[in-house]
Amino acid sequence: MLKIKNNYLMSKITTLQIGGPAKKFVSVKTQKDLIEAIQYAKQHNWEYLIIGGGSNLLVNDAGVDCLVIKNEITGITSQSRTLRVASGTLLQDFVNYTIEHGLSGSQKLTGIPGTIGGAVYGNAGAYGQTISDHITSIVILSESKNLITLTKDESGFGYRDSAFKQRKNIILEVSLQLKKGDSKNLQRKAEEVLQKRLIKYPVGIKCPGSFFKNIVAITLPKDILDKIPSEKIIYGKLPAGTLLEMVGAKGEGENGIKIADYHANLFVNKGNGTAKDFYALAKKYAIKVKEKFGITLEPEVQLINLPPLI
Ligand SMILES: Cc1cc2nc3c(=O)[nH]c(=O)nc-3n(C[C@H](O)[C@H](O)[C@H](O)COP(=O)(O)OP(=O)(O)OC[C@H]3O[C@@H](n4cnc5c(N)ncnc54)[C@H](O)[C@@H]3O)c2cc1C
Repeated sequence: MLKIKNNYLMSKITTLQIGGPAKKFVSVKTQKDLIEAIQYAKQHNWEYLIIGGGSNLLVNDAGVDCLVIKNEITGITSQSRTLRVASGTLLQDFVNYTIEHGLSGSQKLTGIPGTIGGAVYGNAGAYGQTISDHITSIVILSESKNLITLTKDESGFGYRDSAFKQRKNIILEVSLQLKKGDSKNLQRKAEEVLQKRLIKYPVGIKCPGSFFKNIVAITLPKDILDKIPSEKIIYGKLPAGTLLEMVGAKGEGENGIKIADYHANLFVNKGNGTAKDFYALAKKYAIKVKEKFGITLEPEVQLINLPPLI
């Protein structure tokens, strides 16, 4: 039996702790419940939105006029180097599993919050590894409510991008094939990553991760690239933080939102921030970057019930 709640505050389930009420809200722990929730939305003519850990969302203060479905369908099965992971599994649980089983390829994703479904949607990554690196196939629930298995090529992965951003598919299960590794070495690497991450993201920080996407360096016109010192290009990307810093964003803030004084692409809710303040601040600096460099920064964070930034 689904427990559908009314006017459920999204600020309770986003890492930013911002967001007004979802008209309807339900958590699902099984595929059957998920399908039932979607049918329920259809019967009532409601839109629906599936979310995972809420770690990559900026939700309007006015909330969302739909059924928000929180995916808590978890589970990992493995056969040798092949893993099948239910989409509501926490990414960290998946990473821990791979490390314990001596499987290499995801250890640098340690510390990224959220679910494997959310990670696939945005092709999450860090320190040169992305979730899509070792994906072989993905089971989705299509708009026509059919279960379909897509190959990696059909999933349209790019930098912080996937075909799921264009289609209203629900990611149900992800299959990956990892490489053999040594548990102790993998654990050591994961710990190194975690130490670096804790400096940028101290425990308890209220944020949605980096707000803007970095820019793939080869997509930049030469005259713009010439203005950027080559050592600023990291893993083939020009960090959005570098550009934001060059227009004075570091340490700035308005009302309850502050841009970290150590990282210009990190917008933090100091406790009483609102989506309105967050949006206005992000927009202000996106415009400054556009004016100075001619580069349109694109949010990595999903804007829910908010217009495009610029
Ligand atoms: C402190 C912190 C650090 C972070 N560091 C990183 C980092 O290093 N690298 C990085 O890439 N990201 C990072 N992020 C951002 C975020 O954690 C990732 O994008 C994460 O993968 C989002 O997963 P989620 O389950 O929380 O998705 P949510 O925020 O719940 O949802 C994000 C989007 O995915 C969609 N979605 C979620 N589940 C499904 C599904 N099953 N089917 C279809 N669509 C779905 C939602 O509709 C939404 O559009 C960080 C965030 C925080 C708060």
